[in-house]
Amino acid sequence: MQIFRQDKKDLAKFLDKLRQSYELIAPLKKDLVRFESIKNSEDISNIHLEKNSYFPIKEYFFKKQEVLFQFDGDKITVPRFNTTEKVFFGIRKCDLNAIHHQDMVFLEQADDPYYAAARKGTYLLGYHCNEAPSEYCFCGSLDLIDFFDLMFYDRKDYFLVEVGSEKGRALVEKYKEYFTKTDKQITSQDKVIKNADRLEKLDISKLYDNKDWKKGVGLCLSCTACTSLCPTCYCFEIKDEPSIKGPKKAERKRSWSSCQLPEFTRVAHDHVFRKEREQRFKHRIYHQLDYFKQRNGVNLCVGCGRCIEGCPTRIDFVKIINEMKE
Ligand code: SF4
Ligand code: SF4
Repeated sequence: MQIFRQDKKDLAKFLDKLRQSYELIAPLKKDLVRFESIKNSEDISNIHLEKNSYFPIKEYFFKKQEVLFQFDGDKITVPRFNTTEKVFFGIRKCDLNAIHHQDMVFLEQADDPYYAAARKGTYLLGYHCNEAPSEYCFCGSLDLIDFFDLMFYDRKDYFLVEVGSEKGRALVEKYKEYFTKTDKQITSQDKVIKNADRLEKLDISKLYDNKDWKKGVGLCLSCTACTSLCPTCYCFEIKDEPSIKGPKKAERKRSWSSCQLPEFTRVAHDHVFRKEREQRFKHRIYHQLDYFKQRNGVNLCVGCGRCIEGCPTRIDFVKIINEMKE
């Protein structure tokens, strides 16, 4: 494990230098906190590290909506991929793991060229939470791993910076004037995020028929905020959009979809597999905390708590699960 030290006063200078060679993306607070492109030094001074971003970072890789190709009769044109190298700064452990889980789906299992192009040439610079930044976090209950190029550990006047990959090491080497060597170590205790282990039941496989799910189902509006805000949800739909420019011209687009909508499982003859709200409500949570793990050995959910904080009726499924009698 390679550890460096960076004085806090050097962070802005380091980021400003990065901005001159890469597209720099970091959390900014406007109405809400979201990852945005850092355009100037004023943006750098507005980087917000107190709370996690309200919106997930996934939209940079798995786009909310994108054109897969255009067609004009038999002629197909695939849009050019944006090849700008990007540095993401200030990503929390939950969101780094969410990227890792989406990599499993889009790169390892599906070999998706659109996602691969968006992930190519990206540097992931993490910001470690010493304490849960929201009362809804529960990342500490889940089996998250170290997944970053560099991780910044906040030590009041300075950062300890852990190198997590060859790309991270090369970045430190390239900007070595902002890093100094140190004998300090990052222990497993340093990696613990305080007050973030509130999910008490880790195996929900036998709870599917528990009557307490009704506590959440009764409040659910099927609004899809939870799946849109989730950094790991990866379902999408594909539609052809005709063009007014000619009868044979159209675009094939994919966009985020949501298992919370009845349309999500609508098939021929108007059959809907998950017609009842209860089925849809439970499906999302079981996919996050059970089905994905059965297939891949790891929970899809990373415990960021966004789906709870952003739910208009604040359905806290962690609390509901904790209170269930087995
Ligand atoms: S955000 Fe809340 S109300 Fe909306 S679909 Fe999700 S659980 Fe239901
Ligand atoms: S299910 Fe909720 S807590 Fe889990 S990763 Fe998605 S938004 Fe975060």
